Amino acid sequence: MEGLLLPSIADVSVQSLDVSHEAIRVNVCSTSAGAACPDCGSESTRVHSSYLRFPADVPTGGRLVVLQLRVRRFFCPQSSCARQTFAEQLPGLTRRYSRWTERLRSTLAAVGLALAGRAGARMARAFGVSISRGSGTTSVTRRRRPAEPG
Ligand SMILES: [Zn+2]
Repeated sequence: MEGLLLPSIADVSVQSLDVSHEAIRVNVCSTSAGAACPDCGSESTRVHSSYLRFPADVPTGGRLVVLQLRVRRFFCPQSSCARQTFAEQLPGLTRRYSRWTERLRSTLAAVGLALAGRAGARMARAFGVSISRGSGTTSVTRRRRPAEPG
């Protein structure tokens, strides 16, 4: 299932799919035992907590695709490190603070380059994403999600 839904992304497992009339929710979590601290590089397997993120993905079959991604926060094992805890990153899937998966981001970037201004915004809406001009802020349409910790 991972190879079908999330090709070229290592270390993730698809737990379940929730398909409704308008959206497909893919329940995903990391399969790696631990993660490396972004400051000191130390590997940690001590989980501090976890939380859910809901990055939007490229639509498929006319439905919105939203990942439900469980992100773990680890303790940094280095007592000298200023960063006491850190959230794992899933390279190729999401960036920190991003509401989009990397492949939706690159798709939207291509749309933006090909179609500037209103045409690009209309095209983005077809992907279930709204882009507000000028402010640089973006938001996923339909359901607003609560803020997520970094
Ligand atoms: Zn550290």
